[in-house]
Amino acid sequence: MPQMFIDTHAHLTAREFDADRDDVIARAREAGVSLVINPGTTLADSRRAIELADKHAMVYAAVGIHPHEARTADKESLRAIEELSTHPKVVAIGEIGLDYHYDLSPREVQRDIFAAQLGIAVRRNLPVIIHTRESLTDTVSIVGTTISGSPGWRVFDGGANGRNSAARGVFHCFPGDVATAWQLVDMGFYISVAGIVTFKNPGSAAEVAAGLSTEHQLLETDSPYLAPAPHRGSRNEPARLPLIAGRIAELQGLTVEDITRAANYGAYRLFGIGNRPAPRFTYPLKNSLYINLTIRCNADCIFCDRKGEAVVKGHNLKIEREPSAEEVIAEIQDPTRYAEIVFCGYGEPTIRLDALKDVARWVKARGGHTRLNTDGHGNVINKRNIVPELVGLIDAVSISLNSTDPREYGRLMRLDGERFFPAMVEFSREAVKLLPRVVMTIVDLQHVDEMQARTFVEKEIGAIFLKRPFF
Ligand code: SF4
Ligand SMILES: [Zn+2]
Repeated sequence: MPQMFIDTHAHLTAREFDADRDDVIARAREAGVSLVINPGTTLADSRRAIELADKHAMVYAAVGIHPHEARTADKESLRAIEELSTHPKVVAIGEIGLDYHYDLSPREVQRDIFAAQLGIAVRRNLPVIIHTRESLTDTVSIVGTTISGSPGWRVFDGGANGRNSAARGVFHCFPGDVATAWQLVDMGFYISVAGIVTFKNPGSAAEVAAGLSTEHQLLETDSPYLAPAPHRGSRNEPARLPLIAGRIAELQGLTVEDITRAANYGAYRLFGIGNRPAPRFTYPLKNSLYINLTIRCNADCIFCDRKGEAVVKGHNLKIEREPSAEEVIAEIQDPTRYAEIVFCGYGEPTIRLDALKDVARWVKARGGHTRLNTDGHGNVINKRNIVPELVGLIDAVSISLNSTDPREYGRLMRLDGERFFPAMVEFSREAVKLLPRVVMTIVDLQHVDEMQARTFVEKEIGAIFLKRPFF
């Protein structure tokens, strides 16, 4: 299937496009850009955005007053924005925010108008598209005040899914650092870096694009501004979006498909545009194929989204039934096309040990490479030492260590740590003895002692230590 891109920020209503707007939209479609969000900058522009969205199925609108224009806003225009926001193709309040670089409106006025428009978003339970330039501290503070006053704004599933419990908006053309980006993600925001990331001197944009998990990033061109390299300085248009996705993919070490799939899911969650992906038994990431044998698990980790949306980089893993080995094999087709066939998913694969072994045997017989991602409880689950059964079938095992303290381990995984920690350690020692490659991982959470975990893994178990990001 050809890749479909969503441009979450393009000012198609800008006068730069007056001469050839329909051609620009046609070129976007030819380049694979299937949907575009056109944010408004003034009341009049918000009306134009809606007109354009009415004319083109692929265009959606956001309505709002840009900080540059804040001085033109009054009670009347804010009321009109709120009314426009009920139009069926309006998916957000935006573009709103603060700009202390140009200071085209007095800062106090900018702050008032920003807060007032956040109030509209809260009342209408819509997301926001935020512009901030040399004003990040004030912007984050005003948004924080809004959230404290309205904690239920755009919260899903009663807030049960931790980091993924709210989808409140996007910071577009994000000018801050990685730490601030993560802080905003925790507040329910997405981040997009736009074409700046392709520039020779991308500033913090490249660090953010590389350091923030792709599930929290959206794609945008900010047309007609910020044309990506090699078009820098010319008029930008949505057809250039693949260049930006390509650069983010390089920085993330992922494929353009991975970046785009994840961003499209973000756009779906945030704006309700595009489609919810169908559940998958197998799913490609980077150059490997992942196998989703089950969503069942004997653990219930506090950071796991298994019971929530269970979407990984735009792949929906929330299967309603478990696949047979034959079904999985039919989807793999040729295992040598992939670097690895990885038994993973939001569930513990050793719960399906027979299917796992059948698929792995088939993969190995055809010259493929296999990896098992596990919590290391396979021996308890299957009531026997299963490691000898994996010899010749599994090339690499990746075991979640989570913590070196049994009680902390139990707390993180919500199970009996005194029982399962030693079981995991025992499994790991067996694996080191019999299998070619054993990796033990911890999630990048501040309260886990990394040095201690590394020493434990390398010295006491003899496995390879790896820290993976908590996405
Ligand atoms: S072991 Fe893995 S699948 Fe199971 S709850 Fe923990 S993170 Fe989720
Ligand atoms: Zn804009």
